[in-house]
Amino acid sequence: VTAQLVDGTAVARQVREDVAKGVAELAAARGTPPGLATVLIGDDPASEVYVRNKRRACTAAGMQDFHRHLPADITQEEVVALVDELAADPDVSGILLQLPLPKGLDRFALVDRIPPAKDVDGLTTLSRGLLARDLPGLRPCTPAGVIKLIDAARIPLEGAAAVVVGRSELVGHPAAELLLSRRATVTIAHSHTRDLAKVTRQADVLVVAAGVPGLITTAHVKPGTAVIDVGIHRTDSGLTGDVAYNEVAEVAGWITPVPGGVGPMTIAMLLANTLTAATMQAAGDDRA
Ligand code: NAD
Repeated sequence: VTAQLVDGTAVARQVREDVAKGVAELAAARGTPPGLATVLIGDDPASEVYVRNKRRACTAAGMQDFHRHLPADITQEEVVALVDELAADPDVSGILLQLPLPKGLDRFALVDRIPPAKDVDGLTTLSRGLLARDLPGLRPCTPAGVIKLIDAARIPLEGAAAVVVGRSELVGHPAAELLLSRRATVTIAHSHTRDLAKVTRQADVLVVAAGVPGLITTAHVKPGTAVIDVGIHRTDSGLTGDVAYNEVAEVAGWITPVPGGVGPMTIAMLLANTLTAATMQAAGDDRA
């Protein structure tokens, strides 16, 4: 069997085109387009690249770009004041606090300062609670992108055995919750799981977000499984994922490449969340 390729670049392009249309419509109806505020604290080079890409995508979709770059030695109180200012600004539809934060800042307190209606990263305690209760809200971008890819490839979820490898707050845990809300039978494996291959071989849908290059091999995958690789690793020969792509593609039913799989979906879903936030705010719903 040779797996069907799930083309994240193409799906992300479609999402971005749809968002751009929605942005134009909202701008025509409301007078101003949605706006995304990216907050970057300190000079971490990787974070600078991520934020630059997010801002470019935001502008390309026709949204306003409200970027703030703050020095690493800024105080907690000063960041709180900035988040409050952005929260009160009606032109700012979404607020993204780029993580990780420099030492000395309390990330949880700062993230939770973002009102849920503007929480386009879906990481506040309130947004996480809305997801846990399966209520409407803004969802974390990478897991939302995973579901979007699964849907685009028409991989059935209802009743399917879904295994998520990784239980991080950013990816694995919310991915499992989203799969559960789609009525999959969900198992979460992590670094303490005994006999990982035995667990992952049960999967009809396998979402891998472990951060370990090449962790998933043919020994871990039942023939026909849909394999979604969230991992990203920079190597001398380019980007690779958590899945040993060449061998697993020979047994899987579907597979996402790295690069060109989940990666491009994250920014696309950030844009989609910002449009959703702006639309809900325009309708007067402050919970998004
Ligand atoms: P993390 O380090 O916060 O979490 C990793 C999780 O994997 C943990 O829950 C851990 O228990 C589990 N794990 C680690 N080793 C394991 C093993 N040997 N067997 C089973 N489980 C194991 O990482 P994260 O933030 O969730 O990111 C995971 C990967 O996804 C990383 O490679 C990261 O770069 C990538 N990522 C990609 C995107 C994207 O846009 N595509 C976004 C976020 C993260």
